[in-house]
Amino acid sequence: MNNSIRSTEWMNEGNCRNFPPAVFFPADGAGVDRARLICATCPVVSQCLEYALEEHIDHGVWGGCSERERRRIAKRRRIEVRAASH
Ligand code: SF4
Repeated sequence: MNNSIRSTEWMNEGNCRNFPPAVFFPADGAGVDRARLICATCPVVSQCLEYALEEHIDHGVWGGCSERERRRIAKRRRIEVRAASH
């Protein structure tokens, strides 16, 4: 297997496979909350969040987090990496 190709097999296990994709690209906060509820019981929530963070996915709810939440997590991680390197 080519290691440069990230595995996305976990996507087959996601709760979202039972919902229309539009559910995970909500237009308002209520929609984000609905998507989050589905993610909350998803067996691959961790893989999904890491994938979205590493791939810099800007849109939609991934891993139970909105775009804004993922930006916050990414920022916090950058700060932690900087702090650890000093
Ligand atoms: S965490 Fe949410 S978006 Fe990710 S695979 Fe699961 S249900 Fe889908």
